[in-house]
Amino acid sequence: MSRSFHPPQRILLGPGPSNVEPRVLQAMLAPLLGHMDPVYFQCMDEIQDLLRSVFETGNRVTFTVSGTGGAGMETCLANLIDEGEEVVVCVNGFFGERMAELAARWGATVIRVDSDWGQPFDMQKVRDAFRKSSARVVTMVHAETSTGMRNPIEELKSLRDVRDAILVADTVTSLGAHPVGIDRNSIDASYSCSQKGIGAPPGLAPVTFSERALEKIRNRKAPPRTWYLDVQLLNKYWGSDRAYHHTAPALMNYALREALCIILEEGLEARWQRHERNSGTFVAGIEAMGLEMLVAPEYRLWSLNTVRVPDGVDDARVRSRLLNSHNIEIGSGFGVFKGKIWRVGLMGANSNQNTVLLLLAALKSAIATRA
Ligand SMILES: *Cc1c(COP(=O)(O)O)cnc(C)c1O
Repeated sequence: MSRSFHPPQRILLGPGPSNVEPRVLQAMLAPLLGHMDPVYFQCMDEIQDLLRSVFETGNRVTFTVSGTGGAGMETCLANLIDEGEEVVVCVNGFFGERMAELAARWGATVIRVDSDWGQPFDMQKVRDAFRKSSARVVTMVHAETSTGMRNPIEELKSLRDVRDAILVADTVTSLGAHPVGIDRNSIDASYSCSQKGIGAPPGLAPVTFSERALEKIRNRKAPPRTWYLDVQLLNKYWGSDRAYHHTAPALMNYALREALCIILEEGLEARWQRHERNSGTFVAGIEAMGLEMLVAPEYRLWSLNTVRVPDGVDDARVRSRLLNSHNIEIGSGFGVFKGKIWRVGLMGANSNQNTVLLLLAALKSAIATRA
């Protein structure tokens, strides 16, 4: 057995991870610092400021959780849900289902508002379900990665006409690629991940909490059952106390810091426009090949593009040809879309014209090659 590991250079066009800029990997080669080093504290402060800009929020409590996007989801739900309370969960895909599952595990009585996978929500149904319930927490996945659907988190604030609500948005596949407007959209709690739109390796989950969300957390009947993901304890480390909570994955945070710097150097608006433009080029190419997109144009994500597998074409065979002959990874469908769609991530560094053209050519050849 060789002593070193030489993985191939893949082009990662699945639902994440996505390729990272060399600068981001370079950042991880900087000298390791301890988690109580004053120089590392400066790095933490910078990350918090950078994250506020990218989340478009002034929220004081904005930091990274040590874990992937799923740890961000657990953090938001475990802290905001009191045992036995009703929570409205909007579900139109796999990650909406996961939120319903986690909310139930953290003690909620879940009131689901369902739409078919890949179909938009009827916001009147969401409002009616909220009105009829005693729920104070409402959740929605912004970018439903399982279907390629963009859900309207900007419409959640209308629920406040009914009564006060804590609005939770999953921005795992939108942050850094689509506008999320946490403050503009009155979102109280949101979580994301490092490896999709942000353009860093997997391992961190950015989270942000409004004052309204923190007030609900402070007024809990009992502390959350999770100690590791307790927002108030984590904030004693990220906030001014700097009280040890866990050993920070410092190198991961260096990488995230660099990726966030790259985002702001490009500018948020320019970055969103780039993602929109390259997704548009991809869709035009797909349609020119006679293939079809799954999601209607007005709801399409730019970061995650879903293509219907044409009749008579073997989904898995095409994906393995892309991987083995072209070093390109794309995602498969799952749940009701198993074998029915391909999921193509065009995120961060991979949202560019050359990559799109390369993929279109490879996909055309992989579909045309008979077994
Ligand atoms: C990827 C993803 C997650 C889970 O993130 P992990 O980093 O895989 O834990 C959660 N929600 C959405 C919408 C996702 O796309």
